[in-house]
Amino acid sequence: MSENTVKGGISVETAHIFPVIKKWLYSEKEIFVRELVSNACDATTKMKRLSSLGEVKGLEDEKYRIDVIVSKNDKTITVADNGIGMSEAEVEKYICQMALSGALDFIQKYEGESENNQSGIIGHFGLGFYSAFMVSDRVDVITKSYTGAPAVKWSCNDAGEYEMSTTDEREERGTEIILHVNSEGEEYLSAYKLSEVIEKYCSFMPVEIYFTDADAGKKDGEEESPAEPVNDVSPLWLKNPSECTKEEYIEFYRKVFHDYREPLFYIHLNVDYPLNFKGILYFPKLAHEYDSLEGQVKLYYNQVYVADNIKEVIPEFLLMLKGVLDCPELPLNVSRSYLQNSGYVSKISSHIVKKVADKINSLFNTEREEYEKLWRDLKTFVEYGALRDRKFFERVLPAVIWEKTDGCFVTLDDYLEAAKEKHENTVYYTTDKVSQAQYVSMFENEGIDVVVLDTVIDTQFITLLENEKKIKFIRVDADLAGALKAEGDAGDEPALTELMKKVSGNDGLEVKYELLKDTSTPAVLNISEEERRMEDMMRMYRMSMPDFGAQMPASKMTLVINKSSSLIKHILEVLPSDEARAEKIAKQTYTLALLSQRQLTAEELKGFLAQSYSVLEEL
Ligand code: ADP
Repeated sequence: MSENTVKGGISVETAHIFPVIKKWLYSEKEIFVRELVSNACDATTKMKRLSSLGEVKGLEDEKYRIDVIVSKNDKTITVADNGIGMSEAEVEKYICQMALSGALDFIQKYEGESENNQSGIIGHFGLGFYSAFMVSDRVDVITKSYTGAPAVKWSCNDAGEYEMSTTDEREERGTEIILHVNSEGEEYLSAYKLSEVIEKYCSFMPVEIYFTDADAGKKDGEEESPAEPVNDVSPLWLKNPSECTKEEYIEFYRKVFHDYREPLFYIHLNVDYPLNFKGILYFPKLAHEYDSLEGQVKLYYNQVYVADNIKEVIPEFLLMLKGVLDCPELPLNVSRSYLQNSGYVSKISSHIVKKVADKINSLFNTEREEYEKLWRDLKTFVEYGALRDRKFFERVLPAVIWEKTDGCFVTLDDYLEAAKEKHENTVYYTTDKVSQAQYVSMFENEGIDVVVLDTVIDTQFITLLENEKKIKFIRVDADLAGALKAEGDAGDEPALTELMKKVSGNDGLEVKYELLKDTSTPAVLNISEEERRMEDMMRMYRMSMPDFGAQMPASKMTLVINKSSSLIKHILEVLPSDEARAEKIAKQTYTLALLSQRQLTAEELKGFLAQSYSVLEEL
């Protein structure tokens, strides 16, 4: 050290800052990379600005760059830039005073927060330069200001004691931060690990970043500087959407999300006023219903990566998407609760929600055929979103479509319009085209459309529609009589009722008589819509919580006997004279009704086969 070495140290006030930084956020140590590289970015951006303002001459063709160099042998990580640099007075002012008090403020603000909250990340923006001490036992700053002032070396240990003097170690303008990595930071000395962290945080920073593994260079006998920057200084989201091609969007998607399937479609958000944010949201292709819950929306702050899936900024249901969102005005140095309640953030959220709904509507309106093909994948997202966000629900409802049993699609409005005469405001649906085929065909024969609602989320979505829109949803096996009844009074048949109770082995069986338009079906079993839904819900609970309460009794079924059916007429005819024969037919009729309602148990099936053979013999 030369004569003019300045020694300094931490004041009493800041005495506890170093130990706190050292044990700070063990899981988030890697953010030192983001903090140092973005400082380097700022320093070059400032230089560029001075040059473009004409305050500094001769830098018109300057190539600005940042170098990150790791050496496992030397246990150092260096972040170097050719930015604005600092004079001795500036190091004193910015590093020793401002950065330190900034870090102190930051720590005081967040020290009290529980560990859980710390991993929320947003608040971790702002630890700044001193985050270097999370992984270092000494940090050197060698810097030369653009003003031509002599270069300075500042060297500080992890107790906060520093020395500063002018140096001839650096001749070019710019700053070099050398971290002498401690045992806590050892993993970042791996070139592989470090480059991963750089990729995560710095992939889209606005200044070219070059990464060098100094040890690898030495082995080859030469230390070559890498030819390619590791980042993309002008990411796609910053471009004007009208200048981006489909190929570019897809390439970007693959690069950022390492997903080689093509996304279904994407939305380029580009908002300047009154809010300022940009981004691209992709609808990923789903393999199955729940796949989508694993989306990934990356939040950036001026091209600097902050974190994934920040619930405070992005509406929860949009986290099923994949995408990038750059919000340069986001107040990141604030607490999570502030963000949650911030008007700015909720405006961003509602704007994104609106854009997403608009995009879905425009696809629906302009590319209906393509839209129907996408619908299977899109549906879960739309229904889930509608359940989560009432505004989204209202906006997107016109574009919600359902597949009918005939394979065509209808909107709710189309369906209700067609239903007006026969079953106003009632939607008939099936949850399983195959096992409910008998019921479905009875509706189809009457020219009534049946829609297929076969996912778990459908069930919740129709409940929402019922609550909001005064529409009723009835499964085809819940209430046949409603839409399929013919004119006239079916009357009552107490003797047949008794017989049916007997053959079903169920004394409590409820029996109802109807005159249906369909004359071929003698009897069907109905389960009340409410009871069945309740039972479905209980079954879901039980699936998610194995020890959830006792088994629910199965829903009560009603046997609907169709008095228009010739078979029923026949039973009624023979019943007074030949009860044995009537019983046989009644039993077969009941079991057939049961069979089209659900799978038979082993006992039921054995009985049914035996009886069927005996009926055949009589033919
Ligand atoms: P912030 O970046 O939020 O201001 P930091 O603690 O990261 O806080 O840095 C404090 C200050 O130190 C910066 O504002 C800047 O003036 C100075 N500084 C840090 N790194 C560099 C660098 N690479 N080149 C020039 N100045 C720097």
